[in-house]
Amino acid sequence: MTGIVYLVGAGPGAPDLITIRGAEVLARADIVFFDALVHPQTLALAGRARKVSVGKRCGEISTDQRFINRNLVEASTQYSVVVRLKGGDPMLFGRAQEEIAALEQHGIRYEIVPGVTAALAASAELAIPLTQRGLSRSVTFSTARVGVGQAAADWARAVSATDTAALYMSRGDAAEISATLQAHGMPSSTPVAIVANASLQPCKHIRTTLVDLSSAIDCDMKGPAILLLGEVFRERVVSKGDTLRKTLEDSPPVRLV
Ligand code: SAH
Repeated sequence: MTGIVYLVGAGPGAPDLITIRGAEVLARADIVFFDALVHPQTLALAGRARKVSVGKRCGEISTDQRFINRNLVEASTQYSVVVRLKGGDPMLFGRAQEEIAALEQHGIRYEIVPGVTAALAASAELAIPLTQRGLSRSVTFSTARVGVGQAAADWARAVSATDTAALYMSRGDAAEISATLQAHGMPSSTPVAIVANASLQPCKHIRTTLVDLSSAIDCDMKGPAILLLGEVFRERVVSKGDTLRKTLEDSPPVRLV
């Protein structure tokens, strides 16, 4: 048997933020290889599938990527619908290229189902758009983290050249990030927002500046966190509830036709 492998984005955490296509694929899945950040209720959408954890969280023992690749290839010879379920979007910081290469090498059919990436969920939590007319026309998705034995990526140049930056997997490197970006000429007063657990309860966000970044990080912040930098975050960060309430009060009733 040669099955099909789907690389599915589970979204940022909340189980109802997966796409309809992603949910449909999960419902048909025979086997699911899932990441550590995937919500149990999202996994439950794969009602009849065998579920295999291949999660990676920093500081914990991670499943070797080659082992995951091999598993996907092998599973496609035993099952007709194989799902690789990844947090957020599979094509951003998800090592999808290695899985795609392994599947292509073995001539296995695959499809990619996009998901809501963490930066967009964090933007929604803050109710602050990443692009704003006259203020931000570019967004960079980046990370200061490089793998063991890999050359340091020139992430700082990209981040200092963009209007708005989202730094993934970077909470633990806050002091170094702050120093490196200032050394690259980014003003110490650059606004920074840190959002932990976007789309989930409890979501926590902190607003600070580049110079105060590492002292502002709250050790009690639970869950994955993303750093957002740029002028768009200079405005006061209000809670989503407040923003929605204000928007509803300000707007005239909408009539649906
Ligand atoms: N493919 C994923 C990113 C995987 S890397 C995506 O598109 O979102 C994992 C990193 O994503 C975490 O270290 C954190 O920086 C970020 N992240 C994932 N989920 C998050 C969430 N709910 N809130 C804040 N950051 C999150």
